[in-house]
Amino acid sequence: ADVIQLSQIQKTYDRQSAYALNIPSLTIQDGEFVAIMGPSGSGKSTFINILGLLDTAYQGQYQLNQKDVHQIKSDRKLSRLRNQYLGFVFQNFKLLRNYTVLDNINLPHIYSKKPFASQKARILQILDQVGLKDQAHKYPTQLSGGQQQRVSIARALINDPQIIIADEPTGALDSATSLKIMDLMQQLHQEQHKTIIMVTHSELVAEYADRTIKIKDGRLYQ
Ligand code: ADP
Ligand code: ADP
Repeated sequence: ADVIQLSQIQKTYDRQSAYALNIPSLTIQDGEFVAIMGPSGSGKSTFINILGLLDTAYQGQYQLNQKDVHQIKSDRKLSRLRNQYLGFVFQNFKLLRNYTVLDNINLPHIYSKKPFASQKARILQILDQVGLKDQAHKYPTQLSGGQQQRVSIARALINDPQIIIADEPTGALDSATSLKIMDLMQQLHQEQHKTIIMVTHSELVAEYADRTIKIKDGRLYQ
């Protein structure tokens, strides 16, 4: 099934005449692993922000699981959709330094009414999955870069999202660590059928994807 369908997407920023993004049509299927590659300023962040329901100021149609999500403008509804379908992984991990691994992953639930005990069991299970079984009570600064990225992947997995959006997940890691992180991403793709949309500058990293889309001047080349 199609998980993402875009048509006639056009985005311009204020005081710009050229399109930052111009996508006549794009379909991503459930379970696909897609790499996005392009030079700085080519529109990768713009693209990711639209896919991630973070930017709604654009023209065109965006269907997420057959649902017309461009019509939705309420922040609460968008946030609920993000929690339901999407997990985010960033280049610089975006972990909070004064919180333990466990609390970093639990953070989105601190204000929820779910009992912490069941949530904690789930977090420990996910930490085991990403290879951080005994690190729950450490702080991010006590971990290596690769371990910090595993924490952020665990955080992305907490709601069991259908789609993982990864913005340069290996951009801050050395080559050997990058490949280990990509092995984990590939495992999530193959064993849990996650749809992965990943921006990368690295050809080696892009090789893990089923499909690479190049982006230049806001246009996609498949
Ligand atoms: P953005 O996503 O906003 O374009 P990035 O953090 O991806 O910003 O990139 C910042 C700068 O660093 C850009 O000039 C980009 O081309 C460069 N850059 C980022 N990651 C890499 C990388 N792995 N190899 C080479 N250049 C990179
Ligand atoms: P990338 O992530 O590939 O570096 P971006 O999506 O950040 O590319 O940028 C695409 C184009 O949109 C570039 O020309 C950039 O200068 C422009 N742009 C991005 N963000 C803004 C903004 N907030 N205001 C104006 N122009 C922007």
